[in-house]
Amino acid sequence: MSTKSQNNAATQQNVTLQQDAGSSDMNKIEKNEGQWLQHADHWYADGSLVLRVNKSLYKVHEGVLTRLAPNFFGGILSIPDGKEPGDPTREGTELFPLLLEGVDIQRFEDFLAWNYHSVPKTVLDDPFQKRRFFMNLLAISDMWQIDTGRDTAITELEKMALSPVERLELAVKYSVPHWVDEAVKDIFAAKVTSLKDEDIARLDCKVYSVLVKGAFMIETEIRRTAQVEPATERDPDWRCMDHAKCCATWKRVWWEVIGRKLLHPDIPISTDDIHWEVKKIHHKDISPQCMKDMVTEIESIVFVDKRIIAGVIEAILEFMGVGR
Ligand SMILES: [Zn+2]
Repeated sequence: MSTKSQNNAATQQNVTLQQDAGSSDMNKIEKNEGQWLQHADHWYADGSLVLRVNKSLYKVHEGVLTRLAPNFFGGILSIPDGKEPGDPTREGTELFPLLLEGVDIQRFEDFLAWNYHSVPKTVLDDPFQKRRFFMNLLAISDMWQIDTGRDTAITELEKMALSPVERLELAVKYSVPHWVDEAVKDIFAAKVTSLKDEDIARLDCKVYSVLVKGAFMIETEIRRTAQVEPATERDPDWRCMDHAKCCATWKRVWWEVIGRKLLHPDIPISTDDIHWEVKKIHHKDISPQCMKDMVTEIESIVFVDKRIIAGVIEAILEFMGVGR
């Protein structure tokens, strides 16, 4: 982004400093000699500030933008350039437009359309464009700390059918912590290992590595769950005649029925389904009372995969700087 310079000497010094920081164009006020064009829609005759993004010029209302994004516009516009208001050589005029560097032009125009209530109907009627529009609004609002734009974008995007990966991507990029929980659970439900390359490319590599690590841990732990039956009641119901037999049979039945289904290579059951499967078990060597106790016990268990997913969610939130 461009900032107003105080005088030539200061500008020279700033340019040198900025070059050191790797960005040579900062603080360079360029004169409009007809190389840039007024934007067809966002050139408001009564506007008070001319902004430039790439080769387009936008005449907008300084007061509106400053109110909307006090930190960003308030910040760059408060830097004095030593020029009087009305001076045509002042930065922010058609002759010396204020350059917004590093701003995606489509995002910027979507933001202006939202700000000036001029979102074309064709955009709102087309689900794909509408999605792009509000994603852009979210990106700009996050960058410039525009709370109303951010709230609007989040509300609108929540009504749309975004994939879990898209939700997680946006949540991490633009800090929407309340999207993380459901998105991560949905990604695990559809299997992390079946993510497509384009999905993986969307995710921050730290986030992706946390998901993969979680998936590996779950795989190991599911094998353990399949192998080791949940403990039976030590103090059985008085109607149970031979509890030792109950326990031995339970151990075998768990492995043969539940274990095999958990480890099925193509259609494994989820740990959420275990209690349904256990309810179907009726074995002559397990007393009905003990079987009933088992069902109650299993309904209360939080299986290890759920705990690992909760850990993954926690790690991602922590990475976002919003640990719970
Ligand atoms: Zn028993």
